[in-house]
Amino acid sequence: MRGLMQDWPLLIHRVIDYAALQHPHRAVISRSVEGPMHRSTYSDVKQRALKLAQRLHKDGVKPGDRIATLAWNTARHLESWYGITGIGAIYHTLNPRLFEDQLVYIANHAGDRMIFLDLSFVALAEKLSPQLPLIERYVIFTDAAHMPQTTLKNAIAYEDYINEVDGDFRWLDFDENTAAGMCYTSGTTGHPKGVVYSHRSNLLHAMSVMMPDSLCLSSRDSVMPVVPLFHANSWSLAFSAPMAGATLVMPGAKLDGESVFNIIENENVTVTAAVPTVWLGLLNYLETSGKVLTKLKRVAIGGSACPRAVTEAFEQKYGVEVIHAWGMTEMSPIGSYSTLKPEVADLKGTALYDLKQKQGFAPFTVEMKITDDDENILPWDGKTFGRLKVRGPAVSKAYFGLDENILDAEGYFDTGDVATIDVNGYMNITDRAKDVIKSGGEWISSIDLENIAVGHPDVAEAAVIGIAHPKWDERPLLIIVCKKDRHPSKDDILAFMQGKIAKWWMPDDVVFVDDIPHTATGKISKKTLRDSFKDFRFS
Ligand code: ADP
Repeated sequence: MRGLMQDWPLLIHRVIDYAALQHPHRAVISRSVEGPMHRSTYSDVKQRALKLAQRLHKDGVKPGDRIATLAWNTARHLESWYGITGIGAIYHTLNPRLFEDQLVYIANHAGDRMIFLDLSFVALAEKLSPQLPLIERYVIFTDAAHMPQTTLKNAIAYEDYINEVDGDFRWLDFDENTAAGMCYTSGTTGHPKGVVYSHRSNLLHAMSVMMPDSLCLSSRDSVMPVVPLFHANSWSLAFSAPMAGATLVMPGAKLDGESVFNIIENENVTVTAAVPTVWLGLLNYLETSGKVLTKLKRVAIGGSACPRAVTEAFEQKYGVEVIHAWGMTEMSPIGSYSTLKPEVADLKGTALYDLKQKQGFAPFTVEMKITDDDENILPWDGKTFGRLKVRGPAVSKAYFGLDENILDAEGYFDTGDVATIDVNGYMNITDRAKDVIKSGGEWISSIDLENIAVGHPDVAEAAVIGIAHPKWDERPLLIIVCKKDRHPSKDDILAFMQGKIAKWWMPDDVVFVDDIPHTATGKISKKTLRDSFKDFRFS
């Protein structure tokens, strides 16, 4: 027997319809790329997204067509996602921090028809455009007054583009499994791969992000995604914040510590999210300026392991709850949160921060397992390492245009991460499978060593890579960037680490550098480091 409930496909436009109906005056505040703060509401976002949908439809954009965006987090970028998906077309976020040849590959591979871009990326697009023959038009997120001189094909200011129609338009109807968004993973080996979200996956994921043990979003929150819309689907905040009816604050292009601090305080941000590097910048600014956070309640930190020192500083100095989250582009992207179950709610001091180092437990819609290389399921004892595998309605089952099976016999996707899961379900990433240091047949977690090293008061950033060793196969090398005007010695650093790790995990050497390379999504680029240190030998 079938259920007798209505067919109400989970379509993205229902989110903005809901926000505009129930929370019409809730603010959407952006730091515009032109400079000034811009204020609008969910009601405005909906009206303008409808205009965009109408214009795209009029211009012959069809369901399934890919429309790229190359832009910072602003209301215009947000509207474009709703406008594009409202006619069954697909938003495809381009990450401007990628290498130029990767951007060209991605836009061509996806078959993008148009690019919507910020003023700050016009020069980049002009450089790339000769290699992008499929792009029919460039729409610049600005108005006529700020429109630059440009050679870009059929270039038009976004405001002019949407104002040529009247907004008298209805969203199109289609199946909830229709593709809605595309985002390429950075592809540390080989070409980047296209992840394709559906309307249904985005909505189910957004609901899981709102839940109390996830980011706990409500209409009383003011949510600021510092994580860009172009990084892993903006951790769903473009959908989950309007779904919750929360105020949305879009920080635009300025993501340095001072700018992030000012926007948090001026716009009363209560919840925010980004990778650790952003928070290191903010904490550094607070330390040097003596300023304190007065509004912020929760900060989600993920994308790479959140250093313990960051969690402790936020919670102990500034009274901001840290939610350590883990996920990946292929998971829409969030797969776990370090919020406290009753089993661990009484933990204090070191024990609490030991727990918060873990990436947390999976919400409903994410199933996890750890296995050995022969697919045997490993126990949830907090000690046994294994390959972390996941399945759920917002987890990829294939990559765009690639004919390879990426699921195991039980339908799980291999995350490429190595993890433990403890008896309470808290998962702890010990490494990327390819970054783990294999020493004498045992594994050393580069992430654990980095986390301890950045706890040293003179250390700004730390990275650990495996260096070939004649006896042990590989041994850890610790690479450090010091804080300004601090000059710790190798022995200072190693003495600090002593007692915090097993003796055989101790790095064999420490080198000091001015800069550690990062990937386009703000992670330490181990690949670049391994290349730079390929001739390094322990003395
Ligand atoms: P990209 O490499 O394109 O940035 P993702 O953002 O999808 O791709 O990266 C996902 C990977 O980032 C995960 O598989 C994991 O290795 C790492 N990661 C994400 N969050 C965390 C975290 N909280 N702790 C440790 N590693 C993390």
